[in-house]
Amino acid sequence: MASSYLYLSMAAYFEDINLPGAANWMYIQAGEENEHAMKLFQHLVERGGQVRLKAIPAPETEWASPLAAFKAVYEHEQKVTQSIHNLYETALAEKDYPAQVMLHWFIEEQVEEEKNAAEVVANMERIETHDTAILMLDHRLAKRKKEEDED
Ligand code: FE
Repeated sequence: MASSYLYLSMAAYFEDINLPGAANWMYIQAGEENEHAMKLFQHLVERGGQVRLKAIPAPETEWASPLAAFKAVYEHEQKVTQSIHNLYETALAEKDYPAQVMLHWFIEEQVEEEKNAAEVVANMERIETHDTAILMLDHRLAKRKKEEDED
């Protein structure tokens, strides 16, 4: 949910600097993160646990450049990957087999998440500050569509 909030804040930033394609990418990313949070939520419900939500810290609102924002996405996803791996370690130690199976989906998903972010970072680095190329990339990011449920 914190990831979703961060990416929604990035969508607002991209809208503000008139890059609607990058904003589109972020809206979709934010929506997916919320779905991922709900997968964990539902797993706990199915296992008889009670979900207790906590405060989400306010995300950053400004980035130095589009590249800086996408680098922050990549770094954030690396942190999420680490958290998922830590959860998996706990599930192994606790011999919680259903949690291990549930987490396999997230382990695979994080490979995809890091790849997607790294790809945009690589493209942005190539462009640096060439405005025309940034607009072309923005046009491509505008084409990202919400994925149908992959599970
Ligand atoms: Fe993610």
